[in-house]
Amino acid sequence: MDDLSRFCCQNSLCADYGTRNAGNLTVCMHYGKSTHLRLLYCRTCRARFV
Ligand SMILES: [Zn+2]
Repeated sequence: MDDLSRFCCQNSLCADYGTRNAGNLTVCMHYGKSTHLRLLYCRTCRARFV
């Protein structure tokens, strides 16, 4: 399982910026074929970041 509780929104303008485990993040996709990087999506500010 992906543990998103360790991540938080990286958009400093977002209301949930820096708030971990706020339930606003979802995993959009995985980069490449064998990388661990994931594209996260913030439902609060609709920003995507790795
Ligand atoms: Zn956000």
